[in-house]
Amino acid sequence: MAASPSKKKEGKSETTKVKRSRSRTRSRSRSRSRSRSRGRASRSPSRSSKASKSPSRKSVSPLRERTPTRRSLRLTLKSDNQEPLMEKESKVVTKTRNYEFGGPVGAYFMTLMLPVVVYAITFSCNKKSCTILKMPRIPTDVKSYLDVEATLIFLGWFAFQAILYMLPLGRVVEGQPLRNGKRLKYRCNGFIALMISLAAFGLAIHFKLLVTRVHDKLLQLITTGTIFSFVFSAVLYIKARKVPKSALAPGGNSGNFFYDFFLGHELNPRIGDFDLKFFCELRPGLIGWVMLNLIFISKTCMESGSPSPALMLVAICQIIYVADALWFEDAVLSTMDILHDGFGFMLVFGDLVWVPFLYSLQTRFLMESGQNLPWYCLAGIALLNLVGYYIFRGSNSQKNEYRKDPYNPALSHLESIPTGKGKRLLVSGWWGLCRKPNYLGDILMSVAWSLPCGFGNILPFFYPLYFFVLLIHRERRDAAQCEKKYGASWDRYCERVKYRIFPMIY
Ligand code: NDP
Repeated sequence: MAASPSKKKEGKSETTKVKRSRSRTRSRSRSRSRSRSRGRASRSPSRSSKASKSPSRKSVSPLRERTPTRRSLRLTLKSDNQEPLMEKESKVVTKTRNYEFGGPVGAYFMTLMLPVVVYAITFSCNKKSCTILKMPRIPTDVKSYLDVEATLIFLGWFAFQAILYMLPLGRVVEGQPLRNGKRLKYRCNGFIALMISLAAFGLAIHFKLLVTRVHDKLLQLITTGTIFSFVFSAVLYIKARKVPKSALAPGGNSGNFFYDFFLGHELNPRIGDFDLKFFCELRPGLIGWVMLNLIFISKTCMESGSPSPALMLVAICQIIYVADALWFEDAVLSTMDILHDGFGFMLVFGDLVWVPFLYSLQTRFLMESGQNLPWYCLAGIALLNLVGYYIFRGSNSQKNEYRKDPYNPALSHLESIPTGKGKRLLVSGWWGLCRKPNYLGDILMSVAWSLPCGFGNILPFFYPLYFFVLLIHRERRDAAQCEKKYGASWDRYCERVKYRIFPMIY
C-alpha cells in the first residue's frame, strides 16, 4: 500500500529524529562516562552545567571518556545496549509482553472480584459491627441494589463534575511528552471544582435538602457506579481499537481482551479536549469521597446532635488530603497512572467506586458506631498524620518541581545522577532517604485515619492494609518500568538509595 504524502513526510522526519536521537544518545553516553569518571552523583545541573555541553567539551581525551574499571565497563555496555530500544520506543507502542497483576487470568478475576470486595465490605460494616468475621445480612431484593433515584444521583454528580471540569477557569498545563513527541494540554481547575462543590453542599444544607438520602442509597449508588464502570470501560476499549498505535498504553497492549480491558488499552482517551482519565482520576470519585464524609457528619448532626471529635479529625484529615491533590493537580501528570497505565476497568472502577465508597469507610464507621478516643490519643494521631503529610508533600513537590525544571535554583543543593533518557534521578533530599518517600508519607497518613476507629473492629483498618499492599506492589511495578527505561543508571540509583519505602527496614 502506497504511503500517503503526509505519512512519507512523517517517516522522513522520524528518520531525521532517529539520526538526531542517535547522535544525542551517543553524546549522552559519552557524558555519562565522563560524569562517572568524576564520581557517581553530581549536584543538580546548574545553568552553567548546561553551558558545559558546548562543543569545546568534546575535546576531552577518549581515554578519559571510558573509565577503565570492570564495573563501569559493564554499566557502559549495558547502557549502550539500550540505544536501539530507546529509538524503537519513541515510535510505536510495542506489544505488552511482561504481564502484571497475574496476566489475563489475574485481570479477569480482578475485574470480577473488585466489585465483590466493595459489596462485601459495605454489607459487613453497619451500625452493629464492622468485621468480616460475622456473616453479614445480604439483601436479596433488586430494589436494595438498584433504583432510579440513586442512578440519577450518580449520573447527576458525574455530569456536574464534568461541567465544572469544562469551565474555562484555572491554568492550562502541558503533560509529559508523548511517544509521538507531542504534549497534551490539561486544564487544572480541580481546586475550583472542589470549592464550588463545597459551596453547593453548603447551599443544599441551607435549603434543607435531604443530603443524607445519599447515605440511605449507598448500596444502590455502588451498583450504579459498578454498572457505569463496566459500560464505560467497554466503550473505552472499543474506542481504543480505532486509535493510532502510538496512542495505546504500553501496559495494556497485549492483544488479550480481558487484560487490555482491565489495564486499559488507550493511554489518554479524549473527547475533543476533554481528557477522560485525567477527569476521572481526581474529580467525581475524589470530590465524591469528600462529599460522603460531609454527608456522614450531617447525618450524625441530625441524629445525635454533634459529631464526635474522632469523626471530625478523620474527615478533616481526608478533606485536606483531597484538597492537596486538587491544589497540586498538575502533579498527577507525572504519575504512573497518567504516564504508563491505560484507562481501563482498573482505573475507572478504582476512581469512581473503590475510592469514594471504600476510602470513606472509617468516617462511615465512626458515624455508625459513635466511637471516640481521649483527646491525647487524637492529638497523637493528628501528629502522625502531620508527619505523614509533611513527608508526602515534601517528597512529591521536590520531585515534581525537579521534573518541571531541573535548573530550579531552589533545588540546586540536591544531588542527582544522569540517565540515558536525558532525565536525571534525584539521590539526595527526600529521594535519598528511600526510593519512594512519597509512599512512606501516604502509608503513615492511612494509618492515622484508621487509628481513631480503635482496635475493636478489623474493617476500619482495611484502607491502610490494602494501601500497604497496593504501594508495595506499585513500587515494584514502577521499579521494573524504571529499570527498563533507565537501565544501568537505575541500577546505580538503587545502589546509592538502598531502601525501597521504609528507611533501614525495606
Ligand atoms: P511517583 O510519584 O513516585 O512517580 C514515579 C515516577 O517518578 C517514576 O516512574 C519516575 O518517572 C520518577 N522517579 C522515580 N524516582 C525518581 C527519582 N529518584 N528522581 C526523580 N524522579 C524519579 O509514583 P506514583 O505515581 O505511584 O504516586 C504518586 C503519588 O500518588 C504518591 O504520593 C502515592 O503515594 C500516591 N498514590 C495514592 C493512591 C491512593 O489511592 N491514595 C494510589 C497510588 C498512588 P520519570 O523518571 O519518568 O519522571
